[in-house]
Amino acid sequence: MTVKAYIGLGSNLGDSFQFLQNAIDALQQQPEISLTSVSPVYQSKPQGPQDQPDYLNAVVEIATRLSPQTLLQCTQSIEDHNQRQRTGERWGARTLDLDILLYNHTIINQSDLVIPHPWMCKRSFVIYPLYDIAPELILPNGKRLQSCLADCPNDDLTILDRELLWQSEASEA
Ligand code: ATP
Ligand code: CA
Ligand code: CA
Ligand code: CA
Repeated sequence: MTVKAYIGLGSNLGDSFQFLQNAIDALQQQPEISLTSVSPVYQSKPQGPQDQPDYLNAVVEIATRLSPQTLLQCTQSIEDHNQRQRTGERWGARTLDLDILLYNHTIINQSDLVIPHPWMCKRSFVIYPLYDIAPELILPNGKRLQSCLADCPNDDLTILDRELLWQSEASEA
């Protein structure tokens, strides 16, 4: 079965735009993942420790036959291939962070995997790019994404004047 899933991408170390592009390329290369939409890139101040560079964030929509757990392994391996250091510090600076935001309307509460991604509705750098590519989305709890957006101040988010490169492969998965 093919499901629609959304992945949040973030980076604030090194060449962040290139790391986001690497993530797009790596997702696209997976035979069991088809990229169906890619948001603009947003720039924002870090949450958590403030002594770190600004973040770049984007959200992608994929079609996939991978299970949630296998998708998590896949996203973690993409992080690992992009110099992601697991220092243990929460929300510390990182080259690449891939969070599974939504997996169809599935709700998962496992020790290593929680979907929908916790706090996604409180994070402008997730909600704004998600809304760009899926304005009609309804969350598993029945709430409209549009109303999450209305409740979410856009802080100091800015849209980057540069887009990620990708090719739609909607028919593949
Ligand atoms: P946050 O989750 O608040 O955005 P973070 O992205 O910095 O924080 P990480 O250090 O990247 O957190 O991940 C910690 C753990 O979160 C991972 O090892 C993974 O098992 C777990 N995790 C739980 N739910 C998810 C999810 N939906 N997507 C990705 N990782 C998840
Ligand atoms: Ca593919
Ligand atoms: Ca994260
Ligand atoms: Ca993460």
